[in-house]
Amino acid sequence: MALIVQKFGGSSVGDASKIKHVAKRVIETQNAGNQVVVVVSAMGDTTDELIDLAQSVAPDPYASGREMDMLLTAGERISMALLAIAINAQGGKSQSFTGSQAGIITSNKHGDARIAEVTPDRIQEALHAGNIAIVAGFQGFNKETRDITTLGRGGSDTTAVALAAALDADLCEIYSDVDGVYTADPRVIPSAHKLEKIDIESMLELAAAGAKILHIRAVEYARRHGVDLRVRSTFSKDPGTIVYSSNGEHMEEPIVSGVATDKGQAKITIIGIPDEPGKAAEVFRVVAEADSNIDMIVQNNPTGVDVTDRVADISFTLPLGDLGRVAGALEGAKATLGFRELEQDADIGKLSVVGAGMRTHSGVSATLFKALADAGINIEMISTSEIRISVVTSSKQLDDAARAVHKAFGLDSDTEATVYAGTGR
Ligand code: ASP
Ligand code: MG
Repeated sequence: MALIVQKFGGSSVGDASKIKHVAKRVIETQNAGNQVVVVVSAMGDTTDELIDLAQSVAPDPYASGREMDMLLTAGERISMALLAIAINAQGGKSQSFTGSQAGIITSNKHGDARIAEVTPDRIQEALHAGNIAIVAGFQGFNKETRDITTLGRGGSDTTAVALAAALDADLCEIYSDVDGVYTADPRVIPSAHKLEKIDIESMLELAAAGAKILHIRAVEYARRHGVDLRVRSTFSKDPGTIVYSSNGEHMEEPIVSGVATDKGQAKITIIGIPDEPGKAAEVFRVVAEADSNIDMIVQNNPTGVDVTDRVADISFTLPLGDLGRVAGALEGAKATLGFRELEQDADIGKLSVVGAGMRTHSGVSATLFKALADAGINIEMISTSEIRISVVTSSKQLDDAARAVHKAFGLDSDTEATVYAGTGR
């Protein structure tokens, strides 16, 4: 008998009829001879609506971090109980569990807790008794404070992967409203095609580059614990995409697996900062203290008449939501940092091409830059890893850039991708 963990996202359990549909699917999986653990997200946009509600009773509800977690975990509790009720009504046997009951033990950072330990005794008992075990995603419990925590937005994927690892599941299936992992976002590039499989390293780079299909922490967790994933749609029987962590696969890796775009980034340029040891350290200490997670960094070759008055420019990208805060912190430290001017740009986009085959093939950057040049797209920054090349363009040109690059790497297919639902929120 196989043990399968199935995670259903918010759009898969968005209303009563969808919950009944998921119940039916889950029962079918059990009837096929499997033990089944189901992880659910909150229904549709529930989490956002709860946040809106909190903001209408307080200007900064996150000041009450503990209470925000109490509030937001209610979303997943609703969907877990409804799904169990629906399964039982359809002749199945099911019990639901909160994250804490399922043994998801976390750090105590409200709103962004890390999983420290998973002790799923109650889930195992429920399975042995023939139940389908339903677990509320996105939440856990801290032992020291004895409080409920949440794992950060989109954290239900991580719950599913962590349970799959702890239960030594045979497979962890992530259900959403797309058929699998595509070569690009099919909403932007309709000619994108679905990948049959992808290695976990490339999946991690794609997630980090802005592909929304899997939560990055879940992919990291799966890689660390060797969990194989299957990404598939709730609304079709398509087998989806296998994301493999196991080293057993010795297939030839594609040079480019996918193109990811990210419009949620901004850029700061510090102009005319003294070219002396320790300046970059000072700049990024200020940025770190403003609690921002930066991405690309570029420093130009310092210029100046003589060595003592040489100055450099440093640019870096950061999440758009952090722009004002970080720029403010840097302006505040202008006198000590000694730079001349600070430039902010909120209208940038990041495009990344990812593929494990880049390790062993040359010419990828030449193809990329030629495609961008032919499409008349200006590149503002470039950065690379072993299996990724990213460029920053203006946000207006990003979709055009993605289409040109997708085509240049031969990723276009003749059939249009199917997108089933999705609120985009
Ligand atoms: N409901 C939570 C959110 O919207 C967690 C999740 O969907 O995975 O962020
Ligand atoms: Mg959600």
